[in-house]
Amino acid sequence: MTEFDVIIIGAGPAGLSAATELKRLGVARVLVLERERDAGGIPRHCLHSPYGMREWHRVMFGPAYARRLVDEAREAGAEIRCQTTVTALRPGGEVEVSSPDGVHILTGRAVLLATGARETPRAARLVGGTKPGGVMNTATLQGFATFSGGLPFKRPVIVGTELVSFSALVTCLTHGARPSAMIESGARPTARAVMALAPRLMGVPLRFGTTITAIHGRTRVEAVTLDTPEGAQDIQCDGVVFTGGFRPENALLRNSPLAVDAGSLGPRIDQYGRLSDPAYFAAGNVLHAIETAGWCWNEGRRVARTIDAALRGALPPLGSTLITAKADTDAIKFALPQVLSASDPSVAPAFDRMQLRLSRAYRGDIVMGSTTHRVESRPERRILLPLPRVTEPGP
Ligand SMILES: Cc1cc2nc3c(=O)[nH]c(=O)nc-3n(C[C@H](O)[C@H](O)[C@H](O)COP(=O)(O)OP(=O)(O)OC[C@H]3O[C@@H](n4cnc5c(N)ncnc54)[C@H](O)[C@@H]3O)c2cc1C
Repeated sequence: MTEFDVIIIGAGPAGLSAATELKRLGVARVLVLERERDAGGIPRHCLHSPYGMREWHRVMFGPAYARRLVDEAREAGAEIRCQTTVTALRPGGEVEVSSPDGVHILTGRAVLLATGARETPRAARLVGGTKPGGVMNTATLQGFATFSGGLPFKRPVIVGTELVSFSALVTCLTHGARPSAMIESGARPTARAVMALAPRLMGVPLRFGTTITAIHGRTRVEAVTLDTPEGAQDIQCDGVVFTGGFRPENALLRNSPLAVDAGSLGPRIDQYGRLSDPAYFAAGNVLHAIETAGWCWNEGRRVARTIDAALRGALPPLGSTLITAKADTDAIKFALPQVLSASDPSVAPAFDRMQLRLSRAYRGDIVMGSTTHRVESRPERRILLPLPRVTEPGP
């Protein structure tokens, strides 16, 4: 069994910024584990901007941004091991890893979960029909564009209107594909309304109130059936890109001793980013699918500072005060942190505000503890509110 001060699972913006910050703070043995062949996380696949504005005040493309994160972590002295997948989390910071060298157990005095998020695949969307090639998520689409030099279709249908859906649109248009339609089940785009101009300016029909009910084709996609306000319609296409519907990459949590939040589906954390087993911490999209890279990068840095405090024995004990956010309806998708530990003025919380997300549009009160906040927001937008005060510190 090999021991490290900190083991970081996931070499995306959150994990790499945490590694750099931990080394900057003087932590000796920092190991980053990454299941892919190369470090860098999602930005490695994204041939577009904007990345890097919060971090370095410049606009960068994904691959250059990812390279800079990796270079900074390595130059700071962190060790990065790729093709190494963490397969189990055990109590007290013991992790099981699988790599070309076999299966090993590694121990960290602290372990940071920075495994990111994934999109909802076709199977989970209950779309009928056949199972031909050419059906994918945005991450796979971007992988084709970045690593295979081209896309496997010319006229796909893009399902969804989140920010990432427009990223899929741009990837298609810049790699020789012209989507036959972009569809959205709601009456408005999930991303900001102005984004709806993009497909229209580029001559791609954007259809609201429309869902995909079936995919047709033997080896390749040939058509899809749409449920539209005018009734069922078949349209010709040669691919389908299911975009968004992000959820935390939480496979590791399922068989672990760590508490999971039923709203976010990520781990339950306190304001220091600490999980129900205090050897574990989390940062980035594993907490809140999905934020920008800069937001996740900043969380990685902030949680690194609380990990450093924990290693020095300076972090207040893990509390048990659960925070609940209540609205008049069931509009709240999740709120984090979910637990408040006692605060200590010498250690800044990694999460100094509550982050909330709504599952649908809401205008009304949100009550946390003894405080009521007036909120008006569309679904899937970040809402930041002050942390409630702890009246009863945990044990
Ligand atoms: C298509 C697309 C376009 C985007 N465009 C932009 C943009 O233009 N600008 C922007 O700011 N943001 C953009 N984003 C969002 C941004 O990329 C993410 O917010 C950011 O990458 C999240 O960082 P992270 O470190 O939390 O996770 P990730 O970048 O997802 O990194 C997590 C890493 O953990 C690894 N991992 C997971 N499980 C394990 C395991 N068990 N063992 C070992 N390793 C594991 C994964 O392989 C991955 O490398 C985009 C996202 C997508 C999907």
